[in-house]
Amino acid sequence: MSGERQGEIRVSEIFGPTIQGEGVLIGLPTVFVRSGGCDYRCSWCDSMHAVDTRFRADWRPMSVEAVWAEVTRLSGNKPLMVSLSGGNPAIQPFGDLIRRGHEEGYRFALETQGSVARDWFADLDVLVLSPKPPSSGMDTDWTVLADCLEMAGDGPEIVLKMIVFDDADYAYAKSVAARHPRYPVYLQPGNHTPPPPDADDAYVDMEGLMARMLWLVDKVTRDRWFEARVLPQLHVMLWGNRKGV
Ligand code: SF4
Repeated sequence: MSGERQGEIRVSEIFGPTIQGEGVLIGLPTVFVRSGGCDYRCSWCDSMHAVDTRFRADWRPMSVEAVWAEVTRLSGNKPLMVSLSGGNPAIQPFGDLIRRGHEEGYRFALETQGSVARDWFADLDVLVLSPKPPSSGMDTDWTVLADCLEMAGDGPEIVLKMIVFDDADYAYAKSVAARHPRYPVYLQPGNHTPPPPDADDAYVDMEGLMARMLWLVDKVTRDRWFEARVLPQLHVMLWGNRKGV
């Protein structure tokens, strides 16, 4: 989207409080700031409204103060966890928002695929690195992924989160964990099935999702990968693929 001023954040949506539906912060009340734009095009992306430039008319360039005003309005001025997501939030200038929020006692988590490293990662409270497996159709730049970890340093709590659809994705997740053994690993069964023609946007193939979850649990336990945690997407179980909840 053009027309952004220096320091402005390209926002797809700000919503909450709701609960964080996945990973290390699952269940925690959270306000979400979802940025618009992504350098990836994963085959099964569930956030295309924040990725595909067809939706760019819905993305708003906002100043840090404007984003902050919305976060505090939604949270009733009570500090909570703010999740920065996307798209890829790493391509947006979130550093000043994080500093602003910390002054008021808010905490910040960011989830990114690890394709862009930023020095402000060190200011986060939680960094979720979620490199994308083969089923996404994307290639991982291992050097940039390592740069992300280096930029974050000992600042935030860092976790690795990997989506797993099949054996190749599982092998990929193991290779990521082997490269970076210091960090906790969260595995999540992939959530994507082409919807039937009459389905709405919130459609989820819950049966398929549960089958993949059971398959993944079986895989991890048989493999004796006892350091990995396997979690579903709680928000998908509650609300399907509906956006803004
Ligand atoms: Fe979608 Fe995330 Fe892939 Fe970007 S990195 S295309 S937001 S799944």
